[in-house]
Amino acid sequence: MRDRRNALLLAAALAGLAYALFFASPYGLRVLTVAGVYALAAFGFQILFGLGGALSMAQGAFFGLGAYVTGILGSRYGLDASVTFPLSLLAPLLVALPVGLAVLRLESHYFALATLGVAQVLHLLAVNLPDLTGGANGLPGVPAFALFGWVAPRGLPMAALVWGVAAVGGLIGWRLARGRLGRSLELVRDDPLAAGCLGLDVGRLRLTAFALSAVYAGAAGALAVHTQRVVSPEVLEFPVMVTILTIAVVGGRGRMVGAVLGALLLIHLPEWFRGLERSYLIVYGAALLLAILVAPNGLTGLLERLFPPPPRALPDAVEPPAGPRATGEILRVEDLSKSFGGVRALDGVSLSVQAGAIVGLIGPNGSGKTTLINVLSGLERPDDGAVWIGGRDRTGAPPDQIARAGLARSFQAATLPNHASVLEAVAAARLPFDRSVAEAEAHARWALDRLGAGDLALRPCHGLPAALRRRVELARALARRPSVLLLDEPAAGLTDAEKADLAAHLRRLAWEGMALLVVEHDMDFLLPLVGWVLCLDRGRTLYAGPPDGARRDAAVIAAYLGGPAVRDDSDDEDGA
Ligand code: ADP
Ligand code: MG
Repeated sequence: MRDRRNALLLAAALAGLAYALFFASPYGLRVLTVAGVYALAAFGFQILFGLGGALSMAQGAFFGLGAYVTGILGSRYGLDASVTFPLSLLAPLLVALPVGLAVLRLESHYFALATLGVAQVLHLLAVNLPDLTGGANGLPGVPAFALFGWVAPRGLPMAALVWGVAAVGGLIGWRLARGRLGRSLELVRDDPLAAGCLGLDVGRLRLTAFALSAVYAGAAGALAVHTQRVVSPEVLEFPVMVTILTIAVVGGRGRMVGAVLGALLLIHLPEWFRGLERSYLIVYGAALLLAILVAPNGLTGLLERLFPPPPRALPDAVEPPAGPRATGEILRVEDLSKSFGGVRALDGVSLSVQAGAIVGLIGPNGSGKTTLINVLSGLERPDDGAVWIGGRDRTGAPPDQIARAGLARSFQAATLPNHASVLEAVAAARLPFDRSVAEAEAHARWALDRLGAGDLALRPCHGLPAALRRRVELARALARRPSVLLLDEPAAGLTDAEKADLAAHLRRLAWEGMALLVVEHDMDFLLPLVGWVLCLDRGRTLYAGPPDGARRDAAVIAAYLGGPAVRDDSDDEDGA
């Protein structure tokens, strides 16, 4: 079926080619050229917004910047494309890097506003520096695209040039989208916290996507100016941005083919409806609305529904390389404190976990267990104290660095990307370590097989029952072969048989040398499993010692094991 879809796309491309060569009027060729320009700008936006989920409003600004660089250098200094084109890519890049560093950490709507500000500033500059930019009227007389004496006049040569550049840009974008960058960006979009804990450098990934989007936009802007032969503040105005955004959404988010289909449709629609004179805008708007209603996942989503892709083949399992076999103390926590406002979530907690040991972390709800795991995995910075992993001080390090240092964690509420398959979700954990997506998937298959979950590989994460979700999350942690694993209530919602199975898996990991820290309320599950127990109460250590001592400890019984009143589950207690 995928073949039929590709055949359809190929036939459409050939039809477009025949149209351009034999049937298109000069004006029709011009419209086709503009569509190619917008497809190019939209490729970059697909990477940043479609895959990375960052709603940048600067794509239009970068487009305009590329346009002005080519316009000014071409019309004022007569430079040809060998100079102007690279500079039109470089200028947006040089703006994107500092801007991205400053604003990419903002929440999405503030990020959108901040990037909108970039467009406003550039527009003001374009209007108010007439000596350089020609002011509100812009600069006429931009030369045709010329490279080493070869000139692309308007019409077929320019259309061929633009679509040729678009083809190269689209292929690069397609490879990036399907490769490690695209997969990693999707993970960052769906759950940035989990992505960081899997070892992905969220900030660097977003910055890379932002920089790429700027380069694509700059290239598109340069070609737009060679097509129009004038540059004016219009290239920096809001409609450009709206057009790029609409192309990405109507075409299909994150898909390069979607950018091409969306650009062809969006740029031609006004032409088709132009005959309607004054009602044209209404019909145009209605057509857009209809497109979004009929194909909420864009044109590529519609194609996928009509021609569902064939089931993919499973990769063979490959064992990922293990780190050096760790011995001795793997995790050391000294006098850790963390407050949230007036709440002391952690108050002088110390702990040590040896290779091959399983330590249980217990305590009433709100006693600081999850906070401890968050501090250990880098999601929260401690106010005081130190965290040592594998003999190195990692206090306050960001989650991706801690993850790459060998620490893996699960979340109290399993976080799996809903749209992805189980194999893809587990492979995501290997992306920071492996060279290719294929390699990551082979390693993911190994981790799934080890937990007896290989048959889940091709199922979507969406709709998996709780026990299987937990298993997939464990596979995700395991795939990286961490030296220390933190599990936050891994047995919650499991049946007795599933708990026994989980316990067997955890014992085997410890036997192989992993250090484990397990938060759990089910004492019948936890106490036989662990060699050491730490009981917290309001952030303080209430008890630290062997598990049978915990059952008899008066303070632990009073604060935690005593009765259902302080517990959120009360079905499993015999310690009182
Ligand atoms: P546990 O996992 O043991 O149930 P937590 O570590 O989740 O407990 O919470 C410990 C205390 O810290 C609670 O009082 C909780 O309300 C508070 N707390 C945890 N995280 C935050 C946060 N991000 N902001 C404010 N308070 C928090
Ligand atoms: Mg908790």
